[in-house]
Amino acid sequence: MNKVLLILVDGMRPDSLDACGHPFVGEMLFHSTYDLAARTVMPSVTLPCHMSLFHSVDPERHGILTNTYVPQVRPVRGICEVLRAAGKKCAMFYNWEELKDLSRPDSLTYGCYISGHVYGYEEANPRLTAEAKRYIASDRPDFVFLYLGWTDAAGHGYGWMGDEYLRSVRGSWDCIESICRDLPEDYLVVVTADHGGHGRSHGSDLPEDMTIPIICWNPALPSRKAEGWRIIDIAPTAAELLGAAPDGDWEGKPLTL
Ligand SMILES: [Zn+2]
Repeated sequence: MNKVLLILVDGMRPDSLDACGHPFVGEMLFHSTYDLAARTVMPSVTLPCHMSLFHSVDPERHGILTNTYVPQVRPVRGICEVLRAAGKKCAMFYNWEELKDLSRPDSLTYGCYISGHVYGYEEANPRLTAEAKRYIASDRPDFVFLYLGWTDAAGHGYGWMGDEYLRSVRGSWDCIESICRDLPEDYLVVVTADHGGHGRSHGSDLPEDMTIPIICWNPALPSRKAEGWRIIDIAPTAAELLGAAPDGDWEGKPLTL
């Protein structure tokens, strides 16, 4: 393994993995090291959590506390900047446009945005997945970020863990299965979420909002449960696997696979 595909399913609670009934969940866990009680950061809100995922620091350090991006006052380099400096090819695929600021200009080799608002996330998720599959097959990038937004929209619209939400989780796992089935074996796949949710919202420090899955999958890995994993540990894990030096300000540490 010397490449990373990071798949983030927005607002996917760990207990929805079993509840959604998708057969690929169990198949993936059979070849994964995983923590289904990993922790995100406060506030448990999409852009602050993504900034912490990419920059391996708490929101109080990167300073993005809402879904409105502001430039960092004391900038920490993110995973894409670190990998770019190491000569690696990074690509991002997303359907929520606020995420365009997760990497700085000239960090990406390829970027693809398909509007979840215009097409609807149920349609935008598989379209984006197909684009990511096509690009991985043609260019073999070192680091790929694939963001799937349908679940968060379903949670806000119909309630977390309700039927429509679970349908969106199942649909997201169709995308995950589709991209993993055709993936070259040198990729480590990390499946995670930015936050959970309860009722029709999130953002609090309740366990329902703060607990996320982190699943590290490769067909060569045995099944092993880990504990104590944090969202800020994912960027150091990717950097280590790709042989890039982490930023000196990062607070997370590489996960043991
Ligand atoms: Zn949300």
